[in-house]
Amino acid sequence: MTSNSVATFLSEHFGLTGQQISLNPIGNGHINTTMLLKASQQSLVVQKLNTDVFPEPEQLVNNARLIEHHLTDKHHAGDYDLAIIRHVRTVNDNFLVNCEHGVWRALEFIGGSYSEDVVANIAQAQTAANAFGKFALALQDFDAKQLHSVIPHFHDLAMRAEKFKAVLQHDPVNRLAQCQVDVDFCLSQFDLIDELSALDGNIPLRACHNDTKINNMLFCSHSGNAKAVIDLDTCMPGYWLFDFGDMVRTFCSPEQEDSTNLANVRVREEIFAAIVKGYVAPLQHVITEQEKQSFWLGAKVMPFMIGLRFLTDFIDGDHYFATKHANHNLQRAQNQFALYKDILRKETTLKTILNINTL
Ligand code: ADP
Ligand code: MG
Ligand code: MG
Repeated sequence: MTSNSVATFLSEHFGLTGQQISLNPIGNGHINTTMLLKASQQSLVVQKLNTDVFPEPEQLVNNARLIEHHLTDKHHAGDYDLAIIRHVRTVNDNFLVNCEHGVWRALEFIGGSYSEDVVANIAQAQTAANAFGKFALALQDFDAKQLHSVIPHFHDLAMRAEKFKAVLQHDPVNRLAQCQVDVDFCLSQFDLIDELSALDGNIPLRACHNDTKINNMLFCSHSGNAKAVIDLDTCMPGYWLFDFGDMVRTFCSPEQEDSTNLANVRVREEIFAAIVKGYVAPLQHVITEQEKQSFWLGAKVMPFMIGLRFLTDFIDGDHYFATKHANHNLQRAQNQFALYKDILRKETTLKTILNINTL
């Protein structure tokens, strides 16, 4: 199928008419293939779903639509002021279409918007965190258990640790010797598992976004305000500490996730404070005391857990994360551990920021 025939196929299925149909890449997502399907009267975002990561696309769409409905009700009640990304039905009243190129869905295109791959400044960090906070607030009365776990055990550190230990046993591509120091470091940090499991039953299970990167926020081209929270693929039951921690992980370092300039991998305290301020403000009347306290653990655990996953994949021979060279996953792991260590170093300061802004 040529790109032209994919465009024709999708426009027929999603009911776009006209002569001038075009299909071009949009954004910089890492999981799905995201394109803008343009006709003379209408534009749609179309996504080929990555079925290696999401083997159950129907469940993924179903989760997102449940959230869409809930947010729409909130919007009508005046309780949610961000745009809502809605799935578009096919002419046959489905949400997914299959072609030889894969499984596709369509979303309403939000014009006049842009996304960022790296946080531009403190104000933008606060704006994005605040929008993720509004999203969390709007879902706080949504029964998280309605959501199917499209990636089971996503933030289950005990399971990630078991996988890590299993890979250590096999060392399938003889890389262990190269990263023994990092392996030993990981093995010394598994108290985090107990810290996390101590929370079970003590903090509420929430409908979480689970991918609170800056890239999953649309900003208004005119004002720079947040326009919409996007990428609901990994919305699943979880704890707010994970969404908070993933913002800390992805907003706070001045270096990219795979930078080898480890001396500059650090948590920028002013960005951390902006996240706390932005995220907690909308939640202040519903967040529990223990949940607030758990945000410290979230900040620690997210860089550690993703670092552990990078290291596991490195030792395993790079099966999960796309890599550009042989040491890519190891470099990413070392980057995340450097961030984690800096967070530990700054414990007192960061806890003070959390307390000042949240208590
Ligand atoms: P992935 O799951 O691969 O990360 P996303 O759903 O995050 O894919 O989309 C990738 C990018 O496409 C976003 O960062 C954004 O730039 C753009 N995008 C996605 N959905 C929309 C939309 N409804 N309107 C405008 N742009 C969008
Ligand atoms: Mg995304
Ligand atoms: Mg995604």
